[in-house]
Amino acid sequence: ANSQGNDSSLYYYDRRLSKRFNRKATLATLLRQALAANQVEAYYQPIVALPELKIVKFEALCRVKLDTKLPYSVQELIEIAEEYNWIDQIDAAVTKQALHDLPLLQRHYHDNNIGMSINRSVVNDRVSHCCLADTLNIFEASDIDLSLITLELTESAYFDDSYYHSEWLDKLKAHNIAIALDDFGTGYSSFSYLRQIPVNIVKIDRSFVSGLTEESNEFSMIDMLCKLTHKMGGKVIAEGVETQQELYLLSKLNVDMLQGYIFSKPRSLEQTLSCHNDPVYMPLSQHLYHDNIV
Ligand code: C2E
Ligand code: MG
Ligand code: MG
Ligand code: MG
Repeated sequence: ANSQGNDSSLYYYDRRLSKRFNRKATLATLLRQALAANQVEAYYQPIVALPELKIVKFEALCRVKLDTKLPYSVQELIEIAEEYNWIDQIDAAVTKQALHDLPLLQRHYHDNNIGMSINRSVVNDRVSHCCLADTLNIFEASDIDLSLITLELTESAYFDDSYYHSEWLDKLKAHNIAIALDDFGTGYSSFSYLRQIPVNIVKIDRSFVSGLTEESNEFSMIDMLCKLTHKMGGKVIAEGVETQQELYLLSKLNVDMLQGYIFSKPRSLEQTLSCHNDPVYMPLSQHLYHDNIV
C-alpha cells in the first residue's frame, strides 16, 4: 500500500538522519586514520590587546588533514573525537607542538611575554581528569614559564558539579596557568561557571560580536560582562572580530583583548614566521583613521 503523508515525511526524516550517521561514520573512520598517521597540526591565531593592538598571545587551534574531498569543519572533528574518546590524543599533540613553538613565536616578535592559549574540551569527569593529568605532565616536562599559558575550557552540557571542586583547578592555579571560559554566552549555564570556577578570562562568543551596533542588546550585554568580569578581577576577550565597526565599538566597551579575521586567520607556524610586517598590527587610532570611522 502507498504510504500516507505522515509516513512519507517520516521516511524522509529517516533518510536525512541516516545520511547524517553515514557522514559521521565516514568522518570518524577518516579521523582515526589521520590520528594514526599523526596528521594533527597546531595553527596559531593572534590575540591582541587594546588599545595598542599588540600581540599578547596566540591561540593554538588544531588542524587535521583528512584523506577526503568531503568538506568538514574543525568543530565537527572535535565533536567526533570527543564522542570516540580521541580528544586526549588531539589535545596532547596540539599542546606539545604549541609549547615547542611558543619560544619561536616569541623570538619572531621580539617579545618573551607572548603567551599561548590552548583549548580543552570538558567532556565528562573521567576524560577531564585523565586529560588534565596528561596536560600537567606535558607542561611540567617543558621549560616554558607556565604563567604564559592559558587553558580555554569549552562549555559543555556535561560540565558537572564535581568538576568545580576537583583538585586539578587548584593545580592549574598553583602553576599560574590561566583559565579562560570559551564561547561565553552560548552554553547552558555560563553564569554558574563564572560563579563557581576561578576564571581569569572570559571569551565572548563570536555570535555576540558579529554585526555589533551601538543600539543592540549585544552591546549592552558585552558592556555588562566587561564590568562584571573586571570587578571579579578577570579580563575579557572578544572573539571573531571581522570589521572595523566591530573593532571600534569593542574598543569603546573596555574589552581587554581581541581576536578575529580582521587581524589574522589561524596560520601554520611557517606562515606565521614568514610574515614580517603585518599591516594589520597598526595602532587602533591609525586603523580607524584609515577606514574613516573617526
Ligand atoms: P574556539 O576555541 O572558540 O576557537 C575559535 C574559532 O573561531 C576557531 O575555529 C577560529 O578559526 C574561528 N575564528 C577566529 N576568528 C574568527 C573570525 O573572525 N570569524 C570567524 N568566522 N571565525 C573565526 P576552528 O579553528 O575551526 O575551531 C573550532 C573549535 O574547535 C574551537 O572553537 C574549539 O572549541 C575547538 N578546537 C579547536 N582546536 C582544538 C584543540 O586543539 N583541542 C580542543 N579540545 N578543541 C579544539
Ligand atoms: Mg578557544
Ligand atoms: Mg568552541
Ligand atoms: Mg570560542
